[in-house]
Amino acid sequence: MIHFVDLQTQYTSYKTEIDAAIHNVLDSSQYIMGKEVKTLEQALSEYTHVKHSITCSNGTDALLLALLANGIGVGDEVITSPFTFIATAEVIALMGAVPVFVDIDMITYNIDPNQIEDAITPRTKAIIPISIFGQPADMDEIVEIGQRHHITVIEDAAQSFGASYKSRKSCNLSPLATTSFFPAKPLGCYGDGGSLFTNDDDIANRIRVLLNHGQTERYKHTCIGINGRLDTIQAAILIVKLKHLDEEITARNRIAKQYDNLLHGSELLTPTIRPDRTSVFAQYSVRSKNRDNILAKLAAKAIPTAIHYPIPLYRQEAFANLTYDSAKFPITETVTKEIFSLPMSAFLTDSDQEYIAEVIHEK
Ligand SMILES: *Cc1c(COP(=O)(O)O)cnc(C)c1O
Repeated sequence: MIHFVDLQTQYTSYKTEIDAAIHNVLDSSQYIMGKEVKTLEQALSEYTHVKHSITCSNGTDALLLALLANGIGVGDEVITSPFTFIATAEVIALMGAVPVFVDIDMITYNIDPNQIEDAITPRTKAIIPISIFGQPADMDEIVEIGQRHHITVIEDAAQSFGASYKSRKSCNLSPLATTSFFPAKPLGCYGDGGSLFTNDDDIANRIRVLLNHGQTERYKHTCIGINGRLDTIQAAILIVKLKHLDEEITARNRIAKQYDNLLHGSELLTPTIRPDRTSVFAQYSVRSKNRDNILAKLAAKAIPTAIHYPIPLYRQEAFANLTYDSAKFPITETVTKEIFSLPMSAFLTDSDQEYIAEVIHEK
């Protein structure tokens, strides 16, 4: 059986280490804010070369904390991509701010930096590019636009932890970044988890207070926050998994290259990674004008696939009150009709990959 993301083989590969790490936490009984949380944050900072890594409950709360720490709320506008998972736009709207969507680049599917400036108004408070499918967005161009207009930039690196951009790591490309440790992400835990990254001491302190009920000392609350802490058991699992991340990223890139070769000559448009960056292939997403037929053919052979993403955010019912005009997003419209993702994980075997390609090539 082919898994879309093979978490089972991953666990069995690291089982001894992970089981020991979990048992250590159980023996310590420090389930909340145990010492593994600090250890993980230090390891994340070493990995990304960002001064402050602040772990939290999940990638969505990381985004929420990023907005709270920047004081973004009612009446503010935040520029972001319409071609992604809902979490980013969701927390913007949840705070009473307005998600302002900008169309994407036809090649990378990331927000098109050339269209951002036209979307800036006096109410714009932040730009949140998403490094989609594991490939960093055009962060230098976007950060430069932010600086010019005194607007902060927050990289949503939920899919790109471990990727590089001009020899810096994703999460170290903007004043603030967020990631997710959802199990199927490139660095996943075995439950929910997330982190924020910043070199700014003030923002870091604010986030640490916000994620613990606005508490500065025991039962002294200086602002309204949330319960946004990462569980110690998840931190312990992540410490183990982070040690294996670079091997997994190498495997994902080898597998992606193999897909590129195997699918050559098929009708599928394979992913393009820009030469100044790397991808961690959170998804291996391809495009076809004949998507429905190919998906049916794969499903008939029990090969799992997924569509990331079938409905652009500006057409989601949840945002119906915001009355966006689809005509302003021609690239997103095209890509959402053609894109789909093939099985991808560091543990996908050569024979499974060859079989997938064979089915795709079948007439
Ligand atoms: C997964 C994801 C999130 C949300 O992360 P959770 O940990 O599931 O809350 C946010 N943004 C993007 C782009 C994601 O892919």
